[in-house]
Amino acid sequence: MNVNQSAPPVPPFGQPQPVYQGYHQSSYGGQPGSTAPTTPYGAYNGPVPGYQQTSPPGVSRAPPSSEAPPASTAQAPCGQASYGQFGQGDVQNGPSSTVQMQRFPGSQPFGSVPLAPVVSQPTVLQPYGPPPTSAQVTAQLAGMQISGAVAPALPPVGLGYGSPASLASASGSFPNPGLYGSYPQGQAPPLSQAQGHLGAQPPQRSAPPQASTFTSPASGGPRMPSMTALPPGTQMTGPPGPPPPMHSSQQPGYQLQQNGSFGPARGPQPNYGSPYPGAPTFGSQPGPPQPLPPKRLDPDAIPSPIQVIEDDRNNRGSEPFVTGVRGQVPPLVTTNFLVKDQGNASPRYIRCTSYNIPCTSDMAKQAQVPLAAVIKPLARLPPEEASPYVVDHGESGPLRCNRCKAYMCPFMQFIEGGRRFQCCFCSCINDVPPQYFQHLDHTGKRVDAYDRPELSLGSYEFLATVDYCKNNKFPSPPAFIFMIDVSYNAIRSGLVRLLCEELKSLLDFLPREGGTEESAIRVGFVTYNKVLHFYNVKSSLAQPQMMVVSDVADMFVPLLDGFLVNVSESRAVITSLLDQIPEMFADTRETETVFAPVIQAGMEALKAAECAGKLFLFHTSLPIAEAPGKLKNRDDRKLINTDKEKTLFQPQTGAYQTLAKECVAQGCCVDLFLFPNQYVDVATLSVVPQLTGGSVYKYACFQVENDQERFLSDLRRDVQKVVGFDAVMRVRTSTGIRAVDFFGAFYMSNTTDVELAGLDGDKTVTVEFKHDDRLNEESGALLQCALLYTSCAGQRRLRIHNLALNCCTQLADLYRNCETDTLINYMAKFAYRGVLNSPVKTVRDTLITQCAQILACYRKNCASPSSAGQLILPECMKLLPVYLNCVLKSDVLQPGAEVTTDDRAYVRQLVTSMDVAETNVFFYPRLLPLTKSPIESATEPPAVRASEERLSNGDIYLLENGLNLFLWVGASVQQGVVQSLFNVSSFSQITSGLSVLPVLDNPLSKKVRGLIDSLRAQRSRYMKLIVVKQEDKLEMLFKHFLVEDKSLSGGASYVDFLCHMHKEIRQLLS
Ligand SMILES: [Zn+2]
Repeated sequence: MNVNQSAPPVPPFGQPQPVYQGYHQSSYGGQPGSTAPTTPYGAYNGPVPGYQQTSPPGVSRAPPSSEAPPASTAQAPCGQASYGQFGQGDVQNGPSSTVQMQRFPGSQPFGSVPLAPVVSQPTVLQPYGPPPTSAQVTAQLAGMQISGAVAPALPPVGLGYGSPASLASASGSFPNPGLYGSYPQGQAPPLSQAQGHLGAQPPQRSAPPQASTFTSPASGGPRMPSMTALPPGTQMTGPPGPPPPMHSSQQPGYQLQQNGSFGPARGPQPNYGSPYPGAPTFGSQPGPPQPLPPKRLDPDAIPSPIQVIEDDRNNRGSEPFVTGVRGQVPPLVTTNFLVKDQGNASPRYIRCTSYNIPCTSDMAKQAQVPLAAVIKPLARLPPEEASPYVVDHGESGPLRCNRCKAYMCPFMQFIEGGRRFQCCFCSCINDVPPQYFQHLDHTGKRVDAYDRPELSLGSYEFLATVDYCKNNKFPSPPAFIFMIDVSYNAIRSGLVRLLCEELKSLLDFLPREGGTEESAIRVGFVTYNKVLHFYNVKSSLAQPQMMVVSDVADMFVPLLDGFLVNVSESRAVITSLLDQIPEMFADTRETETVFAPVIQAGMEALKAAECAGKLFLFHTSLPIAEAPGKLKNRDDRKLINTDKEKTLFQPQTGAYQTLAKECVAQGCCVDLFLFPNQYVDVATLSVVPQLTGGSVYKYACFQVENDQERFLSDLRRDVQKVVGFDAVMRVRTSTGIRAVDFFGAFYMSNTTDVELAGLDGDKTVTVEFKHDDRLNEESGALLQCALLYTSCAGQRRLRIHNLALNCCTQLADLYRNCETDTLINYMAKFAYRGVLNSPVKTVRDTLITQCAQILACYRKNCASPSSAGQLILPECMKLLPVYLNCVLKSDVLQPGAEVTTDDRAYVRQLVTSMDVAETNVFFYPRLLPLTKSPIESATEPPAVRASEERLSNGDIYLLENGLNLFLWVGASVQQGVVQSLFNVSSFSQITSGLSVLPVLDNPLSKKVRGLIDSLRAQRSRYMKLIVVKQEDKLEMLFKHFLVEDKSLSGGASYVDFLCHMHKEIRQLLS
C-alpha cells in the first residue's frame, strides 16, 4: 500500500476504493469493506440483529456540506467532507455539526440585541425555600454601570503584545523577547489600526449616563463589543485598572443579597430591599432619576469561581466519595477526595453533565442541558485507590447479554433462583452458564456478589479471549519507533543532539506491566529529511547499519530483522547509533522535509512486525519536499472573522485522513513533537495524531537553552506513560437513551465504535446522549463503557466502567444535579469542533443562546416568581456564565492579533482530549498570591479571581492554566521579597521573562519553587515559567489570562457578559 494511491484527489472514506478494501481483507478476514459495517472484533461487536446501527458508509453519509467549499486549496472540500466523517463524527454520529450549529435559530448577535428598556430592580434576597442544593441566587444586574471604571490608557496594542518581540503563544511557549527576530510572524496583525484608534477613544467613556448604557443599542455595541467585530476603541478599553476605590469604598451599602452560597460572607444586609443610598433607586419603587455617578456592579457580588471551589473543598474534601448510590453528584474536580467504588465507576473515569436526566426528550429539549459523559477509561488513580481488578473467566470469556452484548455488571438482575439473569440494558432474559451459576440470597442477590468484581464494583477488567483479538490471534507486544527529523533546522537548534542523548537513558523507562522487570516493548529508529534512513540495530552487529529509502512516493521498509529490537539485548548498538546520529548529519544543508511518508514507513514497519505500537515523530518544518502529503503555506490571517475562517482549521489535503485510517487499522498511534520556526500547518499535521489517539506537542522557536527542560519533561512523561493499544470503545446505555455523538482523539468507522490506535491515561472521550424513548424514574438510566485494548505487555483486555443515573419528571431535579465543569467541557468541545464547519461567530452565538436557554428554562420552570430584573441562576450552574465567557473569548473562538493560526489549531486539538479538570483550569486559570499567607504554611495559598483588580502591586502571584505558568511581580513588592526570590536588590533588577528562579536557601524561595514544582506535577504537560514584572511589556501576555477582565481581542469582561446573558434570558422569557 502506498501513499500515492491515496493521494488527492481522494474520495471520501466509505466509498469503495482499493485501499479501503484491501484494509479490510488483509486485516479483518476479508469482509467486504465497502459494503459491510466494520466489525473487526466479532465477539466484541458481534453482529447483533437489530442492535448494530451501522449501515454501509456510503449510504449513511450525509451529503456533503452545502457550504461554499473553501477556496484556498482544491483539495480542501475533500478534506472537509472526510474529516467530518471520521474522528469528528459530525456525519455518522448524528446530525452534522452544521445542523447542530443551527440548532438555536434564535441566536442573537451579541452586540446587536435589540434591548428592551431596562427597569432597575431592587437588590433582593429572595427567601426561596427550595432545598439547599438548589439555592437560588439573585443578582441585581440591570441598570448598573458596567464598565464605568475607565482603564488607564493601555500601551498601544502593538507594543509588546502583538509585536514579534513578544509573541504570545497559546501553546505555552513564550520565548524570551528578542528570540523572535526571524519569526515571520507579522502577518498583518491589525496593529496600526488598533493604534490608530487609541487617540480616538471617546472621552465620555469614563462616565456615560447610566441609563443609556443598557437601553441604547448604539451604546450597547461598544459596551459589549466582544462578540462581534471589534468596533473602534474597544480594544482600548482594557480591563479596569488597579483596584479602583469606587466599588470598595464607594459602595458601603451596595451589597448583593445572597444566600451565602457565593461571594465573601457578609454580615447583616442593611440595605435589604431598600434603595442604596445615593444610587439609582432599584426595583419597582418609583424613584427620581439619580444624578449621581453610575455604579459599577460589585464584582464581589457576582458568583465567584474561587468561592465555589473553596466551598466544595470545605464541604466535600474530607469524606471519601462512595459510589454506591445512584445519581450522586461527585465533588468538583478541584476538590481532593478519595473514591470508594461500591458499584458505580469513579468520577475519575466518568463525569456527567447531569446525574439526574429528564425522563422525556421533550423535557430535555426544553431544558437544553446537554446530556453528556466525559469518559477517561484508563485514568490514572492516586496511590490510595486500587486499580481495577482483572477478572479471568477462562476460555468462556466474559459473560455478556446475548442480545445487546453488555457485559456482566452489578446491575444485572438474577432470577429463577440464579439460573437466569435479566439484562439491565435491554431487558433480555439470558441463561446463566453452569460454570457461573450461584444461589441467590433472600434479597435476590447472588451469595458470591461481593467476591466478584463484576457483580459488586463499578469498574473492573476482563481478560479477553482470542475471540477478541484481530485475526483470532493473540497480539504481540507493541513497539515504539522513534522518527527523528535531521534537516538543517533540527540540527542547528541542537534538538537532534539533545534528543539522542536523552533517548540513551529514557529507553530504560519504557512502560511495563506491574511486576515485570523489563518492558516488553521493542524499539526502532528512523531519521529523515527528504529521504528516510532506517537503522539495523540488531544485537549481533558491532555497529548499526543505515539503509536509505529515497523513493518516498512508494514507501517500503527495507529491513525486517534488526529494525525492531529489545532494548537490553541491543543496548550497545543503540547507544552507538544515538551517538552517531548527531555527527552524521552535523553538516547537513538539507532544509526540506517529508512527513506523510515517515508515518507511512512507521506504520508499515509495525504491520510487517504484526504488532501495534506508537510512533514518536520529532518534526521541524512544513513538509514541502516532493512527496505524498506535501503541503503548502496557506496561512492567511485575512480569513479571520470571515466565513472562510473554518478552512484554517481544516486539513489541507485528505491524504492524512487516509493515512490515519491505515494507522488505526494497524493499531499505530502517532505522537508528534513539533519544533517550528514558522507556520507548519498544525491543522493538517495533527490529523494523524488526532485520529490515532496520539498527542501533539509544540515548541515554537525551539532553542536548547530555553526549552530543553520543557521538551525533555514532556518527552519523558510521554514515553513512560502507560498506553492501551489497538483499542475499541463502546458505550452502551439502558433503553431510552443512546450515545449519539463523540468528541476526542479517535477514529470512527461506524456510529458506535470509538477506535483508538492508542489510548493513554490522559485522554478522554466525551459522549453525548439523546433520548430515543421514555425513561423511567424507578429504573433510572445506565451507562456501560467497555474498552477493549492491548496492554503494554501485549495482553488483550476489556476494561468495563458502569454508571447508574437518576431520571426525573421535574426539571428542578435536573438543575439540582448538574455539574457545570463537565458541561463546560462538553460545550467547549462542541464549539471547537463547530469551527470546522461554521464561522466562529456563529459558534459563539450558538453557545450563548444555548446557555441563555438553559438558564431561562430554569427561571421559568424552577425558580420562584420574581421580577424580571433579577438574574436567578441555579445553584449548580451559577458559574456557567463566567466559564462560558472564558470559552467564548478563548484563542480558538476569539483570537487576539498575536495568536497564530498554528496556535489555534494546536489548542483546538488539545482541548478535544482534555478531561474536566484540564478544561476547568485551562479556561479559568488559577491565580495564587504568594506572600499573603504565612511562609510556614504548607498548603497551597487560596486562589484569587482572575482579574487585574485582584492583583496588589505589593505582592507576587503565580498564574497557571495547565499549559502556561507566570510569576507576576508587583512594582511595589518589598525589597526583602525581591532579594529572597530573585537574589537581586531591587524590582528594576529583576530580569523580565526569566524562566528559572535562582535556587536560594531561604524559606520564601523554597516555598515558591516548591509550589511551582507541585503545580507542574499536577498537570500532564510541563509548564514553562515566565517571570512578568508589573508594567513591563510582557505583562500583556499575562493579562491575556486574567479572564474576568475585558480582553484585548474583544472578549467581554465577566460582569459585561453576565449582564448580556441576563438580557438574553429576559428576552427568551418575554
Ligand atoms: Zn442486553
